Amino acid sequence: MDTRHDHPKPWLPADCRQAIADAEAEYLKGELADIDAGLHALVDAHERHMDVETIGLNAGTNVMNPRAAALLGRSLGNRPSLGYPGDKYEMGMEYAERIEIVADGLVRRLFKAPFAEIRVGSGALANLYVFMATCAPGDRIMAFPPEMGGHVTHHKAGAAGLYGLDIHPVPYDAARMAIDLDRLRSEAKRLKPKVITVAGSLCLFPYDVAGVRGIADEIGALVLYDAAHMAGLIAGGRFQQPLAEGAHLMTCSTYKAFGGPPSGLVMTTEQGLAETIDKIAYPGLTANFDLGKTAALAMSVLDLLEHGQAYAEMCIANAHALGEAMAAEGLPVHGVAGRGHTESHHLALHAAPFGGGQTASKHLAKANVLLCGIGLPIQAVDGDLNGIRIGTQEVTRFGLTPKEMPQVARFLARVLKGNEKPEQVKGDVIEFRRAFQTIRYVRES
Ligand SMILES: *Cc1c(COP(=O)(O)O)cnc(C)c1O
Repeated sequence: MDTRHDHPKPWLPADCRQAIADAEAEYLKGELADIDAGLHALVDAHERHMDVETIGLNAGTNVMNPRAAALLGRSLGNRPSLGYPGDKYEMGMEYAERIEIVADGLVRRLFKAPFAEIRVGSGALANLYVFMATCAPGDRIMAFPPEMGGHVTHHKAGAAGLYGLDIHPVPYDAARMAIDLDRLRSEAKRLKPKVITVAGSLCLFPYDVAGVRGIADEIGALVLYDAAHMAGLIAGGRFQQPLAEGAHLMTCSTYKAFGGPPSGLVMTTEQGLAETIDKIAYPGLTANFDLGKTAALAMSVLDLLEHGQAYAEMCIANAHALGEAMAAEGLPVHGVAGRGHTESHHLALHAAPFGGGQTASKHLAKANVLLCGIGLPIQAVDGDLNGIRIGTQEVTRFGLTPKEMPQVARFLARVLKGNEKPEQVKGDVIEFRRAFQTIRYVRES
């Protein structure tokens, strides 16, 4: 085998190949001590950039409770925890296995779910676990298409496609940003999907889960609600409650609005599904799972049990205020007639006037304002996403309130509409951020 290559990932686009080549040249040269120092310098620089000097409006991110973050670094994840509490394969886990029990109990309490699976590495894997528990390769599912926030894990390139599922779109009504239940009923009767997936990576408004459940019951399908983004608000009781409204299954990421470590969860109301998913988690797709993350997760659930309602309310209040403020600046905020811009912590802008979603986001990043592109059910932008997605969860945790949203909107408008050089705006952003450095809505020791 020839192991000499010009580049470690020659299949990547040119920009990415260059970024990797540059970083290799800078950070992999010299003695091991140099590499060690460089590694730590990168972590320090990252923390300063993301946690101190930028306005984080990325919708799928958050800042963790430092007490939860500290648990990630404790001596837990490297001790393999295989099998059920009370009968672990390797010895010495009598304390650690109780952390798993605490986390499981807290997650079930938080989501009022009879069953939860916490040994899931990510939201993407949570979806894979659900597809494996409910479908065989070749079976049909229906899922939100990308322009309605449908996630790659519901589609061909992700978990659903890699598992061999036949994926069909859930019909929608773009004007209402809602599921078209009449067309869903006729399509579902024709296609007979095993699973109908609800929600995705942009959720401006709650979906009619009860309506979907009614249709699913007519054809014997299961309803999966993907709460990757909405789990934090659902936990706070300030967004829809998918399991109570009829979803058989709910998956989520735990690092987005949830505000915990990077991991995933599956909740279900059905004992049979819970048992199948339990066996997929172990011995199926993991041997050890990360107990450090599990301890951090338990801490994050405590945060949500205590502060979740106030946090969710402030996330939504901030989104309302930011939507209004951006519209007042003349920015094209996506919305629904009679319903406004959002009922969650998410907002979206039309990206065509700014060259596309990723183009605009990269431009804004130079001003230290962080967000990213998203697909919207409006006219496409060639070679880029047609929307810009915004989430208020992180700035909410850093203490921003509706009072500050006009200033945030101004920063966006100065770069996107005022054609100010982002580098000029950056200094003002750093100055503004100085006053917001304390993490709110988390439990103190
Ligand atoms: C982010 C996201 C996921 C994947 O979550 P990870 O925890 O990053 O694997 C799944 N579904 C949706 C809708 C998402 O937005």
